[in-house]
Amino acid sequence: MNTTIETIQLTPRPEVARSRSPKPPVGVLDLNLEELRAWCREHDEPEYRATQIWKGLYTDLRADVGEISTLPAALRTRVADDLPMPRIEPLRSWKADGGATHKVLFQLHDGKAVESVLMRYEDGRATVCVSSQAGCAMGCVFCATGLGGFDRNLSAGEILAQILYFARDLKREGRRLTNIVYMGMGEPLANPRAVWRSIENLHEPAGMHFSPRRITVSTVGIVPQILRFAEADLPVNLAISLHAPDDELRGAMMPVNHRWPIRELMDAAREYTERSGRRISFEYALIAGSNSSIEHARALADLLRGMLCHVNLIPLNKVPGSPLEPPSPEAVRAFQDTLLAAGIPCTVRLERGADILAACGQLRIEHAQSG
Ligand code: SAH
Ligand code: SF4
Repeated sequence: MNTTIETIQLTPRPEVARSRSPKPPVGVLDLNLEELRAWCREHDEPEYRATQIWKGLYTDLRADVGEISTLPAALRTRVADDLPMPRIEPLRSWKADGGATHKVLFQLHDGKAVESVLMRYEDGRATVCVSSQAGCAMGCVFCATGLGGFDRNLSAGEILAQILYFARDLKREGRRLTNIVYMGMGEPLANPRAVWRSIENLHEPAGMHFSPRRITVSTVGIVPQILRFAEADLPVNLAISLHAPDDELRGAMMPVNHRWPIRELMDAAREYTERSGRRISFEYALIAGSNSSIEHARALADLLRGMLCHVNLIPLNKVPGSPLEPPSPEAVRAFQDTLLAAGIPCTVRLERGADILAACGQLRIEHAQSG
């Protein structure tokens, strides 16, 4: 496999590392188009300037308002001062799969770091995996992000800036972003306002007009937010990280299960499919000697029977320092066959670039240790 590791910059800039403000200032990417129009009115600018700014950032993919040549210079300066772009600076980047997989560790304005991944496919698709929080408070035992602890929620602008960064890369290659998955660091439904704002801004017709059907949000299982999700206007896909078919095992792997056990989670999932008419995805990371026996597969099939769903089986990505291992390929196959025989649609998802990229969250830990 053609693997290259390209280091852009290893140490945080001192002025960034010293800033400890928990939240970035509200910036242009945090606003929706209506709010940007209101800002223009308040600053005695014609409203069409808001559309020009929006198009510059989301359609022409300018990295900065200063690069939007249709705007008067004074307005560019005013927006940059009043509504700054979020600071997300690529610190390090890793490429794998011959460059098709590109993972970047970004440093935020307060020195915190998040990871995002771009995956290019031969059929033309290009998917960005985006972080919604710096760290995660959910503490799943198999997850590098969970083991690294929680720093803070990201703003909508910081989420969007990760996506726009890769959209710009693709544009330079004459390609387009086709899918977005909220499966990077953090629990998206623990930061629902910023996550929804980012989705609305992606969908705004004056800009990217990105289809919600090409967006997937993955949750650890925050039940009240799943129910709100069912009522949302935009038909975004929902993935639920299940990982175990019974409360004892799931509780040992995922502390969130003590708050919302499997029965409540499945009730919410069923309500979601009934209200929205949309299929739900269940993520199931297979761990050797833990949740991956044929009995587990049968119990999982019993749990999901009759539901409008699909199961994504993910052989565990090894986390350094953790004793957990993925099962053998034969055991993965047997698990899948058992589900398929029971009529549960499922596929095995192989992590791309797993050789160097590993599970999300690891790069941040390395960064924190080296910093
Ligand atoms: N917090 C959300 C989304 C981010 S994690 C969630 O938990 O769903 C994205 C997916 O990666 C989740 O399904 C998560 O359980 C899974 N995951 C985390 N660590 C993993 C590992 N070491 N190997 C395989 N999958 C992992
Ligand atoms: Fe957080 Fe998801 Fe990792 Fe669990 S799997 S610790 S919810 S990022």
